[in-house]
Amino acid sequence: MRWAAVVGAGWLVAFVILLVIAQVHPSTAIVDLPYLVPIVVAVGLSIFAAVVTTGRTRSAWALLAVSNTLWLVGEVIWVYYTYVAQRGPPAVSSADFFYLSSYVFAIPAILVGIGSTGHLRHIRGLLDAGLLALGLGTIGWQAAIGPSLPHAPRLADFVAFAYPLFGVALVTLLAAVGLAGRHRLPAWAVLVGAGFAVAGVTDAVYAYSIASQTGDGNWINIGWQVEAVLFALGAIAAIRRAEPEVRERRRSRDLTAVPLVIAAIAATGLILADRLDEGPVTGGMLAILLALFAGLLARQLLIIRDRTRLATQLRAALREQERLAITDGLTGVYNRRFFQEMLRIEAERADRSDTPLSVLLLDLDEFKKVNDNYGHPAGDVVLARIAERIRGTVRASDVVARYGGEEFGCLLPGVGEEVAIEIAEQIRQSIGRTEVAIGQGRSVRLSVSLGVATAGTRGARPVTDPDGLVHDADAALYRAKANGRNRVVAAGMLTDPVDADPDLPIGLVWLADRIDAALSPQEHSTAVSRWSLLVAERLGLDMAALRRAAAAGRLHDIGKVMVADSVLRKALPLTPAEWEQLRQHPVESARLLTDLGQRPDLAAVVAAHHERFDGTGYPLGLAGDQIPIEARIVTVTDAWAAMLADRPYAPALPMEDARAEVERGRGTQFDPVVADAFLELVSEGLVGDLAAPVRL
Ligand code: GH3
Ligand code: MG
Ligand code: MG
Repeated sequence: MRWAAVVGAGWLVAFVILLVIAQVHPSTAIVDLPYLVPIVVAVGLSIFAAVVTTGRTRSAWALLAVSNTLWLVGEVIWVYYTYVAQRGPPAVSSADFFYLSSYVFAIPAILVGIGSTGHLRHIRGLLDAGLLALGLGTIGWQAAIGPSLPHAPRLADFVAFAYPLFGVALVTLLAAVGLAGRHRLPAWAVLVGAGFAVAGVTDAVYAYSIASQTGDGNWINIGWQVEAVLFALGAIAAIRRAEPEVRERRRSRDLTAVPLVIAAIAATGLILADRLDEGPVTGGMLAILLALFAGLLARQLLIIRDRTRLATQLRAALREQERLAITDGLTGVYNRRFFQEMLRIEAERADRSDTPLSVLLLDLDEFKKVNDNYGHPAGDVVLARIAERIRGTVRASDVVARYGGEEFGCLLPGVGEEVAIEIAEQIRQSIGRTEVAIGQGRSVRLSVSLGVATAGTRGARPVTDPDGLVHDADAALYRAKANGRNRVVAAGMLTDPVDADPDLPIGLVWLADRIDAALSPQEHSTAVSRWSLLVAERLGLDMAALRRAAAAGRLHDIGKVMVADSVLRKALPLTPAEWEQLRQHPVESARLLTDLGQRPDLAAVVAAHHERFDGTGYPLGLAGDQIPIEARIVTVTDAWAAMLADRPYAPALPMEDARAEVERGRGTQFDPVVADAFLELVSEGLVGDLAAPVRL
């Protein structure tokens, strides 16, 4: 590039020397033929640039090649008139047609090569170019050309004056569409723009010299030589360095507004000043003034439209940003930050309106296996599908969020624990029921574990502690996992299973407490209730069964209120009649639950808590599956609590002996599955110690 610049400068120096020689030996031939050289070079390089470049640059150079070729044709015609026809061109010749059309082709070259993609901006650029040319043209004509004309203006004067106006228009267009939309113009555009600017100045001087019939036609040629050299350098710049596609800025600078307004005002001023001297404003001048101001108005409207469109786009972009800031990219549900924000807001609302608020936390079971077996992308697909499933199960107003990698959170405002558990259960079943397609015809079936926590009405937490609420849900989720996954655990059930059951008859609970107080030093039924719940949980029973097991554990002995104190407190052996009386207590408990408590569902369980697995129990002698599972659980936990306490007929057993006793009863007194689950929990230290009932 540097060498090309040196060669170009060298050529210009040589040309000046030729001009000096021509001055001494008056012969235009030694100037006019070399004059064509840089133009031919510019044409050749433009064509080459159009061939080797790509994209917009290529289109621009194809048009510039046409433009430069037209220029060359004009020059050749000029040479023809001078040397072949031997008479010099007429004042307005076909050469002028080609010169002017070369400018016309430069306009689309600028629009295509560096223009923005917005048509509005193109129209505005053209309008600006036209207006500035008109404004400056008026000034130039009024101030310079008109006064210098020794005669009335002729067509040749107008044609000569058209060239500098094209120069002005092209430079304006370049500034308006190029600089307005980007930080920097490509090097080739700067060089070409400089070429137009030099041409404009040269043409202006030429037009003045024609009008005033002064000056020597030869020196002026330097200007056009510079123009040709700049075009050639521009082509080389385009060939040598592919300009990266520049990202347009969204805001456009209004670069041409100030010169436009100044030109319009100056032109108006000149016209009016002129007319003050020479009479009324002519129709032509009025037309120019009107065109100037209509043009200014039009471009202002275009700017307003452009700005309005920008503002609309900006608003849409902002809204999209806001959405993205609270959305999880992979699954499309909310993100954790939004969940926590909403948790705080909903907790406050629940506090004000005294309504409950529930939180579900959900973790996919053994999700690592999906990743391991099918790959991380398949895992991602599953996460997105699961999110849809959850969204489809809860209300539209509930907040569903991706809480962690494969954990989701749901915020259920106004929902109490009962309903929250139901919803959690629906989600669990909905996910467990159907396979998730992961592409290539493959699919996986997954299960989920859910933890539920409720604050407010009947909830374990006050609504003013949203963090504690999530903590509870997390603890419940942990228990759901620990107990074998694919299940729902509610925090309320864990902290106080019986108190959390709103349908439990309070009077009967009171009765259970009285009987505990009378018969055992420890809270027998409370322990049996908790252990029963944990065994039911370990066995994977549903939430309703868990509740029944806990409630039956609490109320199983209330029927003892019908048994004589003497019998209850008597050391063994009992008489057959006393036995008969004692064996009535399960039936009595059931009767109280049916008649007083309106809980026939619990009655059936309580009635069977002294049945034996092998069918030798009482009152009915039911065996195996005939005995409700909750009753089979209470049979084990009740026996354990009894063995560990001092009884009228026997002292407390050490833990090891009690364990041996349960093992001995597997399959006879106890359901072996229940007995095993219970002993497992004992080994884990989760149940069995009467003195310290498990609290979670
Ligand atoms: P479980 O919860 O039943 O105890 O077993 P798990 O295998 O699901 O264990 P855990 O919840 O601890 O594992 C989470 C796994 O989820 C680890 C990681 O491979 C996967 N995981 C987390 N985030 C993404 C994610 O964005 N895309 C995919 N594909 N996998 C994820
Ligand atoms: Mg998991
Ligand atoms: Mg996890």
